[in-house]
Amino acid sequence: LLDALAGQAALAIERVFLAADVERARRDAEADRLRQALLSSISHDLRTPLAAILGAVGTLRGYGADLDPATRDELLATTEAEAERLNRFINNLLDMTRLEAGAIRPATIPTDPDEIVGSLAERVAAVVSRHRFVVDVAPNLPMVAVDPVLIEQALFNLVDNAAKYAPAGTTITLAARREGDTVAIAVLDEGPGLGAEELERVFDKFYRVEKGDSVRAGTGLGLSISRGFVEAMGGSLTAARRPDRPGLAFTIRLPAHAGERG
Ligand code: ADP
Repeated sequence: LLDALAGQAALAIERVFLAADVERARRDAEADRLRQALLSSISHDLRTPLAAILGAVGTLRGYGADLDPATRDELLATTEAEAERLNRFINNLLDMTRLEAGAIRPATIPTDPDEIVGSLAERVAAVVSRHRFVVDVAPNLPMVAVDPVLIEQALFNLVDNAAKYAPAGTTITLAARREGDTVAIAVLDEGPGLGAEELERVFDKFYRVEKGDSVRAGTGLGLSISRGFVEAMGGSLTAARRPDRPGLAFTIRLPAHAGERG
């Protein structure tokens, strides 16, 4: 009987190990699949603009003298826009790498939210030129400790997305208000919104809701970088559907700074 029990126990243990092996193999395969997907997404994001640049430059070299000035300008504009896109993508990759390496060390200074919103509004003017842009800051907000570069980059990404995904002519609102011990700075749009299960996934690295729409080409990195920057400053960034209308609210919450208003 003892032998039989020992045999069974050995079998049971073996099964557990086997299950663990299977589980590990499954996870390895999943990690592998993810790495593959990331690689192919990165190659695609690098290759698409490069192909456009090479095409434009090739045409300019081959037919430069014969092209009318308007066509030449157009080819040069394409080259510039695509080079900028490459530059943005590479900067995003670098930011992501720095975030993951813990190499982003915010230099925070107590700042009036009014100032954050004001300087951002100036910077995004061109981005929101096809939308109605509304700034709505509650009076007498407490100061927040932020790194001016990081908060501006995080908010810029949110406004850039709103302009990218919400139709022209709709309203984009940049709002700041007090919420208990935090100051909430939100970017609100009237775009297509997202499904409930996507509200969190959009913060994943390289995650994009596929629309097969190259005009809205992006890297899927913007939101994860924004969240990384905000969290490095001790805040949070979340997405929610708007209760009263279609569209999304992306909200950055920062702890109110204890000091006096400047
Ligand atoms: P990218 O914009 O480069 O694709 P992001 O990380 O900024 O990358 O966004 C990830 C995805 O989240 C986008 O591809 C888009 O599908 C979705 N998204 C982001 N912002 C909005 C928005 N304001 N409205 C609807 N969808 C959005």
